[in-house]
Amino acid sequence: MTSIWVKSIWQFLFMAIAAIFVGMIVNEVKLALIIFIFSYLAWHFYNLARLEIWLHKGKKLTPPVAMGIWGHIFNEIYYLQQRKLKRNKKLLKLLNRFRESTAALPEGVIVTREMGEIEWWNTKAGELLGLKYPQDVNQRLNNLLRNPEVTTYCQSENRDEPVTFPSPLDEQVTLSLKVVPYGKKQNLVVVRDITLFKRVEEMQRDFVANISHELRTPLTVISGYLENLLEDSDLDGDQLEHAFRVMLQQAARMRHLTDDLTILSNVDNKKVEVKTERVDVPQVLASLQEEARILSGNQNHAIVFDIQPDLLLQGDPKQLDSVFTNLLVNAINYTPTGGAIKVRWYQDDSGAHYEVNDTGIGIAPYHVERLTERFYRVDVARSRNTGGSGLGLAIVQHALQRHNAQLRIDSEIGRGSSFICDFPSECILHKQAVIPPALEQVQVDRF
Ligand code: ADP
Repeated sequence: MTSIWVKSIWQFLFMAIAAIFVGMIVNEVKLALIIFIFSYLAWHFYNLARLEIWLHKGKKLTPPVAMGIWGHIFNEIYYLQQRKLKRNKKLLKLLNRFRESTAALPEGVIVTREMGEIEWWNTKAGELLGLKYPQDVNQRLNNLLRNPEVTTYCQSENRDEPVTFPSPLDEQVTLSLKVVPYGKKQNLVVVRDITLFKRVEEMQRDFVANISHELRTPLTVISGYLENLLEDSDLDGDQLEHAFRVMLQQAARMRHLTDDLTILSNVDNKKVEVKTERVDVPQVLASLQEEARILSGNQNHAIVFDIQPDLLLQGDPKQLDSVFTNLLVNAINYTPTGGAIKVRWYQDDSGAHYEVNDTGIGIAPYHVERLTERFYRVDVARSRNTGGSGLGLAIVQHALQRHNAQLRIDSEIGRGSSFICDFPSECILHKQAVIPPALEQVQVDRF
């Protein structure tokens, strides 16, 4: 028994004795006791009423003032209330923090009951699935999504592997959904946008398929000729020479492919830093002009170079060389005999531009936006004949991106194409600016 109770009992006994004593004085002990007990009961009823009003009707949090056991009860209840209030505040803070953190999650999170009725979702889930508050609260997720795969997944026993399905808002977006049971018959549904991941997966698959396809043809040709050589020992000199020539050609094709793959992986690898060296573009293009003439051979292309002699670039020499060469080699390969090719290197207000114009076969508009994809070729047979790997423009695109430059393609079927590389002003250097004035002075003095 607590001290307050002992104290109350003593108080009660003391007051009862006092009432008996007063009763004895006035010779009305019974009456005095009855009055005392009624007064005591009335005091309790009065305090009970105050307690009830305070708890249910009174908005004030401070307790009524009372003496004895009632004062103690009021205070105890008041402390309990305060503790509860503090705990509620803490819980509210925690809940807000939880909401804030789930709202910041890159994944959509939905809390559902046993039968899939939606209780709560975060902002991302709302965005991904188009959930609307408050209409969709208590709706079954299955009914809202109306996707047979999701329904089968939600009804199955084994839900370890997430289900993938097209977004109800946009067919192009692929979503993954996983149900994680928690608490008392509740589920956490995690929704992710895996469009990019899917695309990368597809690209990887296509990439491997393309490489094996590209290697299969030359390997088949080489092994065919080798089998012939093994089986038929009566081949004459001309036949042997032809066989070796074809095998050499196919080997060169494979080497070209692996070379291009190496360049592409270097250009594509963000971990490999782009060199920022001074690249004397006019000088590079001068040697390219020679190569172009040799490559054009007896096709008699009219190749013209219009080069701004002082215009240099700051960048990666190898990558830039790949850009310049690939575009020019393509122009030669896809321009019929006697056609014209013009290469321009110049600066204007928007930056520096490398432009290759040809009067070749041209490209239909629907092919243009896919040209920079790996292994994309308009005419596969023609590209193979010219020794193309289908990686040239992918290399150009990646190399330009690493220099913050852009590729523009303008083409018309039967009339020719223009491939223009736009380099930003930050990449530009000029010959005068590179040589310090003091040094120039010294050189002048010497003459
Ligand atoms: P490839 O090694 O096949 O030339 P690229 O990536 O360099 O591969 O080019 C992709 C495709 O773009 C080529 O197969 C060709 O169909 C088309 N192409 C590129 N340059 C030109 C051009 N100057 N004229 C016409 N078609 C072109």
